[in-house]
Amino acid sequence: MKAIIYSVGTEILLGSILDTNSKFIASRLQDLGINLYKMVTVGDNPERLYKALKEANGEYDYVFVSGGLGPTEDDLTKETLVKVLGLEDEMVLDKESYEELKQYFSDEKKAMMVNEKQAIFPKSASILKNDQGTAPGCIMGDKTKYVLMPGPPNEMENMFDKEVVPRIHTDLLIKSVNCKIALLCEWRVAKTIDLSGSNPTISPYAKSTGVELRVTASAANKEDLEASLKRGLDQVRTAFGPLLLTTEDKAREEVLIDELRAKGEKISCAESITGGLVASSIVDIAGASDVLKESYITYANDIKHKLLNVSYETIEKYDVVSPEVAGEMLDGLHQATGSDLCLATTGYAHLGLAYAGVLYKGKKYIRKIKVKGDRNKVRRVVKNKLIDMSILIVREEYENYISI
Ligand code: ATP
Repeated sequence: MKAIIYSVGTEILLGSILDTNSKFIASRLQDLGINLYKMVTVGDNPERLYKALKEANGEYDYVFVSGGLGPTEDDLTKETLVKVLGLEDEMVLDKESYEELKQYFSDEKKAMMVNEKQAIFPKSASILKNDQGTAPGCIMGDKTKYVLMPGPPNEMENMFDKEVVPRIHTDLLIKSVNCKIALLCEWRVAKTIDLSGSNPTISPYAKSTGVELRVTASAANKEDLEASLKRGLDQVRTAFGPLLLTTEDKAREEVLIDELRAKGEKISCAESITGGLVASSIVDIAGASDVLKESYITYANDIKHKLLNVSYETIEKYDVVSPEVAGEMLDGLHQATGSDLCLATTGYAHLGLAYAGVLYKGKKYIRKIKVKGDRNKVRRVVKNKLIDMSILIVREEYENYISI
């Protein structure tokens, strides 16, 4: 199955909005086992849109189009496709769509006059309901099926899942699992496992939340699909051992929260370079209040001293960005909060140098982190590594990985 995605809208070409619709459709096509060959953005220009839609005819099994279905003059996707397919003589008012518009506009005459065109389709079109907005979508065409959807992302996504997916027929089943890998950077993950297999495929991704491996299996039936997926996951388990944090669809912070909740333990943070990012990423997860007690942003030296009792002598002797200061931050935090898991960060964003510290069951672990990148990348990487360390430490699996 071959597909192309068109996003229609001059706003996208001007850089005013980001084309998130294509990203959404692309990720759904992966799950559906449809091969996406291209993504193209076309402005609200009838000639160029005509040319683009025409080129796709006969070339692809599916053409997904988002945008330009609204009631205004420049909304011309449907009308243009009708010309491409030569369906001008087939146009009829779809009663159900029309009734829905009437209800939406409470029979208001002026609104109905402007919006009526949204309920007119070729007889042969299959109509896609829009329960989040006024423009219905539709599927037109024989060999090449054109799937037209509205531009607003909430309308498009809702329509895709409810109306489009049930009408798509594929012979192949596809399933992916994302494996979250601790501490290693992308190239080290790639070097640790054979990525050359074709079913399942195993591919590394460096996301802003950390490195993941996606295992994707495809098969004609469910049993073969699950067997292929299991082979891939076993391969990942063997290669990474405890560094495989989870195969579930949850954030690393959620993995940590679940571990702590199961043990009835609490967490606190004292953050300098990360400036609250660690605590905030934990608070992002529902249920954070089960484990997060309190957290401090201790940016300036005198605040590190005042709140965490970090000594000026230590700062003077070793520098504020040092394992010694990270260690004293941890001691002070533990004294102030009594939390089971204490986390601390200190670093220089402009130098890409930081120390991330964890105190757990009377033992301190301090990791030197060096990162290339801008300020926010450095802060993000420090946060991710600290969360990864914490999970491994709470699981009592960190000792073997201190030096990686
Ligand atoms: P409407 O009835 O709202 O006019 P429409 O189908 O005509 O629906 P457009 O006018 O093309 O849709 O887009 C409406 C809005 O949807 C845009 O202003 C933009 O905010 C958003 N949008 C459109 N296309 C995309 C896209 N590809 N990705 C993200 N947002 C989009």
